[in-house]
Amino acid sequence: MKRELVVLGGGVAGIAAAVEALKQGYRPIILEKNNYLGGRVRSFRARDIDEIIDNGQHIISAAYEQTRRLLHTIGSLNKIYFQKNLTINFVKNQKEHFVFRPVSLPPPLHFFIPLIFRKKLTGSDFPEYVNFVRKNARLSESDLKQMTVSQWLDFCGLNQKIQKFIWEPMTLAVLNTPMEKASAFLLKKTLETAFLHSRKNARLGIPRDWLREIFVKPAEKYLLKHNVSIYMRTPALRLIIRERKVQQIVSKNRVFDAPIVISALPPFALQKVIEASKASILRPILEKVAGFEYETIMTIYLFLNEPIHCRFPVAFIESPLQWLFQLPRQKESPYFGYSIVISGAGEWSRQSSEDILQMVREEFKRILNLDLNKNQNLSKWKIIKEKRATILQTPESLQYRLSPSTPLKNFFLAGDWTDTGLPATIESAVVSGKRAVEWITAPAK
Ligand SMILES: Cc1cc2nc3c(=O)[nH]c(=O)nc-3n(C[C@H](O)[C@H](O)[C@H](O)COP(=O)(O)OP(=O)(O)OC[C@H]3O[C@@H](n4cnc5c(N)ncnc54)[C@H](O)[C@@H]3O)c2cc1C
Repeated sequence: MKRELVVLGGGVAGIAAAVEALKQGYRPIILEKNNYLGGRVRSFRARDIDEIIDNGQHIISAAYEQTRRLLHTIGSLNKIYFQKNLTINFVKNQKEHFVFRPVSLPPPLHFFIPLIFRKKLTGSDFPEYVNFVRKNARLSESDLKQMTVSQWLDFCGLNQKIQKFIWEPMTLAVLNTPMEKASAFLLKKTLETAFLHSRKNARLGIPRDWLREIFVKPAEKYLLKHNVSIYMRTPALRLIIRERKVQQIVSKNRVFDAPIVISALPPFALQKVIEASKASILRPILEKVAGFEYETIMTIYLFLNEPIHCRFPVAFIESPLQWLFQLPRQKESPYFGYSIVISGAGEWSRQSSEDILQMVREEFKRILNLDLNKNQNLSKWKIIKEKRATILQTPESLQYRLSPSTPLKNFFLAGDWTDTGLPATIESAVVSGKRAVEWITAPAK
């Protein structure tokens, strides 16, 4: 008889935990609050515009090894388009723009050389990059853990122009946290694995379909095929704890026995469950999860009658807009869809939709010389503000990120926010789910 393992939360971390648990010979069940899997990776029909959209544009990196494995397992890896080489179209205005591609040289030269040729835009020359590498080498891991990205770059002597040009959009894209607050340690580590190790890893993976076709439906199909019980609309409300073990999980209309439990909940949801459980043994966890702050990502979806002719993705320089992506073309739709991403969007998310659209119109005219009314004929648009898109990834947040083990013998933690050493991303969620199961099977790790 296979041992039962209960996963709380059916986001990417919960899905990854269930898939790994199956591989390790457990019988997983998932308790999910909503009536769909996927959590922060989902799609829905926006009734007001009658279009399916995602809850926000998602991009993966070719360096997301565990995510690629998971998608391969559930059969949807082919629904991600991986660039042949990293290509980003940096655009400042109608005159100043360039397509960035790393060159065939050893790292970090493969990145620096194309930028050096753009000295007019970046303001940085070869000696400045050499100085950067030299000063960076003086910093230990623990120095970097205390520093924000701005402090790190200032210490390494990078000028403000290049900080604004490449580091600000990069930090927001990777950490969803402004440079002045973002953890230098997390950014450096990510850039090293994603961009500096190999040109292959640096490629971006862009969805060819809606997220529900890539993550949600294939995962559900795979799990059901393997007899995983998925309980939708079944929130974990509190845990019944005795003898340093979770004995039962209380949901709305049902109580579940709990031989082994993996929480794949976001910190604020775990906090609620722990508070309701009134278990002093979990106080150390409560203190940590209560420390997190969150940041917004705003995605503006545009549906046009005419296509935009330029190379994608576009990274905007010195504009409130950050990225522009082309949406996968839907067979039945007459429209050309685009998504604009604004990370670290706390300020903008408080503005009205009309004001935001007006800003988009002005920036499109100024930067791309596109008149959304005339040339492109904006047919429909929708703004999605995900208020708690990710944790705010500051140096302080590193101390709140927890390992899978807890003071309870049969209770383990997963989720993008746990201590995976990665930014809170899809890859971190997948790694965390897998790692929680590995921890159960080999606790000495
Ligand atoms: C707009 C946006 C854009 C993003 N862009 C990117 C990107 O480009 N690349 C990238 O790598 N990452 C991106 N991310 C981050 C990525 O989506 C997350 O890191 C990842 O989805 C987190 O997965 P998770 O399973 O840890 O958490 P979640 O997805 O939050 O899953 C938690 C699950 O638990 C459920 N739940 C909550 N409370 C309870 C309860 N009491 N009982 C039972 N279930 C409960 C929730 O409904 C949810 O399904 C983006 C996020 C957003 C919002």
